[in-house]
Amino acid sequence: MKIIVAGVPGVGKTTIMEEVAKRSNYKIVNYGTVMLDIAQKEGLVEHRDEMRKLPVDVQRRIQKEAAKRIGGMENVIVDTHLTIKTPAGYLPGLPVWVLERLKPDLIVVIEATPQEIAGRRAKDETRLRDSESVKDIEEHLQANRYAAFACSVYSGANVLILENNEGMVEEAVEKFLEAIK
Ligand code: ATP
Ligand code: MG
Repeated sequence: MKIIVAGVPGVGKTTIMEEVAKRSNYKIVNYGTVMLDIAQKEGLVEHRDEMRKLPVDVQRRIQKEAAKRIGGMENVIVDTHLTIKTPAGYLPGLPVWVLERLKPDLIVVIEATPQEIAGRRAKDETRLRDSESVKDIEEHLQANRYAAFACSVYSGANVLILENNEGMVEEAVEKFLEAIK
């Protein structure tokens, strides 16, 4: 089975799926890391947070390359984004040419309140994050839901909306495990 885990930056995707991977037979593949690896080998970027500043056509090409690599893997949780916010608009993380290679069975959308997300971004010193207003985060959450259901209709994958509220990682992990058992 192939599971896609998505959600806005800082919502807690990595936190939750690492715990799920520990308690199941799934391996985590980070889509961004695969893309970063490709971009670094081509000398386009040094750091992860430079990726989304690349021209859209370059991001799209690297995204296709990554889909090819991940497409061959089984029993994986793919850490990715449904939409990537760029100055040129929302870039789809799972356009048709990615979806048809990944063939997901389940799309898990991690959510929290915009206030919780803003707080987590501000606290997380391990990452260089753009600051975004609560209203913008709200729009991004909404865009992700639309994208998740569009992907569901196209691929036949179920969608699980998973709340990751403050201090409730364990509850979210249990719901996730319940959905995949
Ligand atoms: P990115 O898309 O940038 O990779 P992410 O969605 O993987 O982000 P994490 O790195 O897992 O997000 O989490 C961001 C921060 O929020 C971390 O500091 C993490 O410890 C914290 N966090 C995650 N879930 C919760 C929670 N339920 N309650 C409180 N803090 C949380
Ligand atoms: Mg992460």
